[in-house]
Amino acid sequence: QQPFLSVRDLKVHFSTEDGIVKAVDGLSFDLAKGQTLGIVGESGSGKSVTNLAILGLHDRKRTSLDGEILLDGKELLTAGERELEKLRGNKMAMIFQDALASLSPYHTVGRQIAETYRKHTGASKQEARARAVEMLRRVGIPQPDVRVDDYPHQFSGGMRQRAMIAMALVCDPELLIADEPTTALDVTVQAQIMDLLKDLQQEFGTSIIFITHDLGVIADIADDVLVMYGGRCVERGTKKEVLRTPRHPYTWGLLGSMPSLDHPVDVPLNPIPGSPPSLLNPPTGCRFHPRCAFPEKVAGGLCATERPLLDVVDGRGSACHLTPEQRADLLADLAGSR
Ligand code: SF4
Ligand code: MG
Repeated sequence: QQPFLSVRDLKVHFSTEDGIVKAVDGLSFDLAKGQTLGIVGESGSGKSVTNLAILGLHDRKRTSLDGEILLDGKELLTAGERELEKLRGNKMAMIFQDALASLSPYHTVGRQIAETYRKHTGASKQEARARAVEMLRRVGIPQPDVRVDDYPHQFSGGMRQRAMIAMALVCDPELLIADEPTTALDVTVQAQIMDLLKDLQQEFGTSIIFITHDLGVIADIADDVLVMYGGRCVERGTKKEVLRTPRHPYTWGLLGSMPSLDHPVDVPLNPIPGSPPSLLNPPTGCRFHPRCAFPEKVAGGLCATERPLLDVVDGRGSACHLTPEQRADLLADLAGSR
């Protein structure tokens, strides 16, 4: 069966005054219907850029794209702006960290949701308003028939986030891209929004790409996980595989310590010494080598010279020169030193 979304060898390069920034440099993944893919990594790892490219929201003048993005069999990289505009909202939608950036302060929340609906369905004003009330109800806004006439500033932060979700889902999109949608919210509201997304996914069968730097959120919502570093995928697998038996030294760093099988991982990203690589002049070989603790374990100084390939078997893979035996030894040491 064909995956619902299939990304193949995606490259997203920007031209800047100083040269070409290789923001995403050969990324491949699949997403099945109704599944959630968590993409995790530090800022500048290429997570947001990847998703802007899927949505066709990148800066077209300064960005060159290469590879393949198939959504339900349709090639998005070569699709025209009008076609993408139609797909956005209808077939794919997004929610961001900042609801205020998605909602206009000049129009009521209800009007904005209704207009989105009308634009894609041609519904009447009355139908669209009824739909807006219905969506606000579904995302848990109290008294939706009254609040539909409020302006965004009359909503609390959590309610605005719910309204943005209502707007994103008003046309039943099959793909929802959520870019750090709960980062700005307090923990309680965060949990409520996550529950809401899970409920809506159940109800609508939406496929979700969830971008986050918070492994607790990944543990909560993802089916599969992709770890990005320096514009490339360094590890992927099911949530359980990546969080419980991580293979890549970068993932070990993110997890802070070797997680044990009996304790589910629920920790924020551990800061790793050093800074993310420049994508203007990325490090040679393994892009993580300047920050990695283990290059000397690899014979012949390969880490600094040879790019480790991501070999994927049944959806599970990592890109590192360490042998499975070395990895097992290091993990045993790390576990012992905890
Ligand atoms: Fe570290 Fe080398 Fe593996 Fe890169 S390839 S993560 S530098 S051990
Ligand atoms: Mg981002």
